[in-house]
Amino acid sequence: MLDVIIPFVNGMGLMALLTLLFGWLSRKGVPRWQFRLLMGAAFGLGGAASMLDPIRITDGVITDARALFAGLSGAFLGPLGATATLAITASVRIWIGGIGSIAGVAVLSIATAAGLVWHAFIPPDQRGSLRRLALLGLMISLSLCATLLLPADARAAVLRQTGLVTVGLYMIGSVVLGSMMAAARRQVRREEVLRAAAHKDPLTGLLNRRGLEHALNLLPPDQPRALLIVDVDHFKQINDSFGHPVGDIVLQGLSARIGELARRGDILARFGGEEFAMVLSPVTAAAAAEIAERLRRAIEARPFEAGQAALHVTVSIGGVFRSGEGDLTDAVRAADRALYAAKFEGRNRVRFSDSDARPAAGPLPGPQRQASG
Ligand code: GH3
Ligand code: MG
Ligand code: MG
Repeated sequence: MLDVIIPFVNGMGLMALLTLLFGWLSRKGVPRWQFRLLMGAAFGLGGAASMLDPIRITDGVITDARALFAGLSGAFLGPLGATATLAITASVRIWIGGIGSIAGVAVLSIATAAGLVWHAFIPPDQRGSLRRLALLGLMISLSLCATLLLPADARAAVLRQTGLVTVGLYMIGSVVLGSMMAAARRQVRREEVLRAAAHKDPLTGLLNRRGLEHALNLLPPDQPRALLIVDVDHFKQINDSFGHPVGDIVLQGLSARIGELARRGDILARFGGEEFAMVLSPVTAAAAAEIAERLRRAIEARPFEAGQAALHVTVSIGGVFRSGEGDLTDAVRAADRALYAAKFEGRNRVRFSDSDARPAAGPLPGPQRQASG
């Protein structure tokens, strides 16, 4: 019996390594289909390694942990990953040859199908459940039906030497390795949620400054961009007159209105208390100036509903244009200077700081009215 168990234990050791790879690769941020294909190929190689160190039943008939690799691949990677695993393991089994090769490929196909059925019916958050993993092991055991394709004496030898033990090993393997895989996935998911939360402003759902920095790093380095800092005029008076909660509602309304104006690919963030940042990219200096002005007008045009009150709010916008990558702190400083100028000149207007390319449209349009408030 030991000679049946040892190759399985080896296979499970290999699979534990695959679980580590699974966690590591999940954190790499590769697209999902690439992840599945790569992991599927890794499972395929694992299954192949297991077949090259098998239990020899009779001449040309071998048994090993391959069904576990195929089944777990189907269960945790879905159709794409399972196809990669099946393609590799089936090719290797055919290459090994012998009278058992057709039955061997059938084992792989049944185990893959079992994994895929399990994958289809068990929702992701239940894939770590021990009972469901034990069920997966039983389903993978259906691959023993492939012994029907063997000559009677070989079939009898397989079932006598490995039969019930194999079912037990499939179940143990599914439970142990499946839990490890589910735990790795949960951990990655938790990290994703935490990272997303760490990059988000809870009040408005926009990015916070850390999130903005992260998003800026993802922009192509030579893509022209503009940073707008949008600061509410006399916001303190709203808080003082109507209370902080109403101020919060106005901030949420503002973020929504900025969102309405944003184009796909623009990055929105809440920067500080009542300051928002908008990064436009790709953009020309002239378009950035136009968008900033449109935003200013869109906010001025419609009051914000907060309970019974309709609050007229205006914003001042400081902007800076950069023809390529640059330091965020430096850009913020430049936009802040422009914002200060807009405030100083009477609020409710747009000002741009000197940039490394002048707006093609010449001097910026800016309303010259005095802000109310
Ligand atoms: P200015 O036109 O010069 O920008 O005047 P201001 O009153 O908007 O600017 P100031 O910097 O004096 O005040 C900003 C106010 O924003 C003060 C602070 O209480 C308020 N604030 C900051 N964060 C929040 C928040 O999360 N919620 C609410 N309701 N108010 C906030
Ligand atoms: Mg401010
Ligand atoms: Mg303000």
